[in-house]
This record gives sequence, structure tokens and C-alpha cells, in this order.
Amino acid sequence: MAIADYPENMPDQKGFFGEYGGSFIPEQLQVIIDEITAAYIEMKQDESFWNELHYLYKHYVGRPSPVFHAKNLSSKYGGAQIYFKREDLNHTGAHKINHCLGEALLAKKMGKKKLIAETGAGQHGVALATAAALTGLECDIYMGEVDIKKESPNVLRMKVLGARVIPATHGRKTLKEAVDAAFEAYVKDPVNQLYAIGSVVGPHPFPMLVRDFQSVVGREARAQILEMTGKLPSSVVACVGGGSNAMGIFSAFIKDKDVELYGVEPAGRGTADGDHAATITYGKPGIIHGFKCYLLQEANGDPMEVYSIASGLDYPGVGPEHSFLKDNGRVNYQSINDKEAVKMFFELSRVEGLIPALESSHAAAYAVKLAEKKSKDDVILVNLSGRGDKDLDFVVENYGKEYGVDKLG
Ligand SMILES: *Cc1c(COP(=O)(O)O)cnc(C)c1O
Repeated sequence: MAIADYPENMPDQKGFFGEYGGSFIPEQLQVIIDEITAAYIEMKQDESFWNELHYLYKHYVGRPSPVFHAKNLSSKYGGAQIYFKREDLNHTGAHKINHCLGEALLAKKMGKKKLIAETGAGQHGVALATAAALTGLECDIYMGEVDIKKESPNVLRMKVLGARVIPATHGRKTLKEAVDAAFEAYVKDPVNQLYAIGSVVGPHPFPMLVRDFQSVVGREARAQILEMTGKLPSSVVACVGGGSNAMGIFSAFIKDKDVELYGVEPAGRGTADGDHAATITYGKPGIIHGFKCYLLQEANGDPMEVYSIASGLDYPGVGPEHSFLKDNGRVNYQSINDKEAVKMFFELSRVEGLIPALESSHAAAYAVKLAEKKSKDDVILVNLSGRGDKDLDFVVENYGKEYGVDKLG
């Protein structure tokens, strides 16, 4: 496959990116998923659908999100100039609204009544509940009981937005159990519900359609950086959980072979099993949630328990397109640990007045390392996938002292 054909011709008709992706699900569910694929492919050709989505991007989300030249950060570390694509400024505070609106419009078009999904920290749940409220769909969000207790502001947001938050009460009562519960509920009535997947993961067509909805980030950023600097960036950097914000920004640059692409995974608190979620760095091909990808897995192929300080990044699998881009060498995958991410959380707050999401802090931390090795003429474009309000309490409670922030005093 030539890079020139990318990404329009990916995945193939069965949803494969090379050997990754596809659809490994029960036969009776496959029938329904095939209907979603057919509806999406038809909708993709329909100009009025894109007009409607772009109207919402502009007037509801606040797109285009700006690109900001982080001069203070760039001059502090020397080397390359760092620019941030400001997805943190979107309505609901992150990039997820881009694909949630697309999924809601698709559900509507297909005559579905309800959107369902799982959520970990609640970010995907809030974005989806928002899209459901706007489009007049019902919304059920499955969430581990432990996470419900931890993430009270997001739980309240979802409820205020009119969604039902349904606790997953088995096992460890966190994200994996929430996926199980949502999946179980979906299989019971796949005709009236659409399972709105939260990243470029899951069975075909979700890795493709979530990427397509997120590609607006890359198209805007490419034009903006050309206008601001008169040239393409030397590098583009994004954090990778499932990989949707990264695919969104990378997709516009994949054919520009002089532009280096960096995906940043969470190295957590170490390299031992269970201490990180650096899937591409340490995983092996396997199957999770109906698709094939790099996977952090037990000897028997079961997904491993994984960890990152950034709850949006702690997934044992990764998008099939990233798995493919790893093998063909187009994207360079690196990792950043908890400590480095927290340091950048405070650094970006204090040097630029931007409080980043812990997920995005991973990308920014790697960008600074990279900038130090580059020249002043080089431009590094970083996807600032979300804002850090959601992380404030946790960061201050656990790291405040170290950085001179006292919650009480
Ligand atoms: C959910 C989330 C991520 C991780 O998801 P991807 O699909 O890898 O983009 C990254 N940043 C923020 C702010 C998030 O909310």
C-alpha cells in the first residue's frame, strides 16, 4: 500500500488496516453492525449530513478550535517552536464531542431511540449525554460503581443532561465491568439502541467512523499552521489512549512524508505488568472488544489490568489503525510516565496559563523533550486534547504539596 492512498482507502471493506481491526463478534450482532456500516457508508456520501455536522461543529462546539503558539514554553526549553491545537476549548472541554455528535446524527438517521456507552472517568459519558440531549435521543451510560463514587462532578453532569447513569456492580466495578454491562444491555436491544464507541476502537466500522469524525481536527490544524508559519510542522504529537485524538490530527499529515508523527502512550508508574498502559510499546497482537490490535495481555490472551494516572489513557488495547501505523513505521510511538505528565500539568498551567487534561499533558511532555533536540526553525504541533478542570482535585490532593499548592490553606 502506498502512503499516497492513505487514509481514504483504509480500512478495507472488511474493516482491516493490514492485519488489524476487522470484526470479531457474535453472528447475530454482526447483522446489526453490518446495518450500521451500510448506513454510515451511505451517509458519508450525503452532503447534507456533513453540512449538518459542520453546522454543529461551528455553532455548537465552537470550531474551528484555534492553534496557539506557546512562545513562553518554547523559549524556556530552547529548540523548536511548540504550537497547541486547542481542542480543550471545545464545548464539553475535549475532542470527544467531535465524534459523539457524529454518532448521534448517525443514530438519529437510522431511527434509533437511544445512545448507550460505557465511561471510565466520565468524559465520554458527558460528551455523549450532551450530544443525546441536543439530538433528542435517550442516553444510558454504564459506569463502574467505584468510578461513580470517584467522579461525582461528571456523574452529576450526565444526570443533569438527562442521561441515566447505570452502575456496573460486578468484579472490580471499574471500566472493564462497565464495558461488559453496556455490551450486555446493547445485545438485548440492538435495534433501538446504538452503542456509541468512545474512541477509534471496537469492531468495524467504529475505528473508521470515529476517525472520520475526528479528522476535522487535522484538517483545521494543517491549514492553520500553514497560515501561521508558512510551512508544515516538522512534527505532530498526540497522546494515545484508544487513539481518537491522535488519529484525528495525524490523518491530515499522513501523506506528508516529511512530517514526523509521534503517538505518546502512558508509561504510568513503571514498566512492570499492571503499572502502565503503553500498549504499542509493550503489547503483542491480540483481540479485545471485537477487533484485533496491539494488546497488553495475559499468557492466555485475556486483556491485562492496566494503569495510568490519566484515566482516558488506561486501555489495554489501542486502535487498529495505530497498530498498523506502528508496523509500517509511519508513526513513532513513545511513552511518558505519570511523574512527567504531572510536571507538565503544572508547567503548562504556570508558563502559559493553560491547565491541560492529564491525558494531553503526556503529549505536551513528550513535545518538550522533542523540542530540545530540534532547531529554532522547527515547528512542533501538539494536540491539546482537553482541559484539566476534571483533574484538578485529584492532582492537588496527590501532588499539590510537591508543587506548592495547598488545598486547605
Ligand atoms: C478520552 C481522552 C483521551 C484519550 O482518548 P483517545 O481516543 O486516545 O483520544 C485523550 N485526551 C482527553 C482529554 C480525553 O478526554
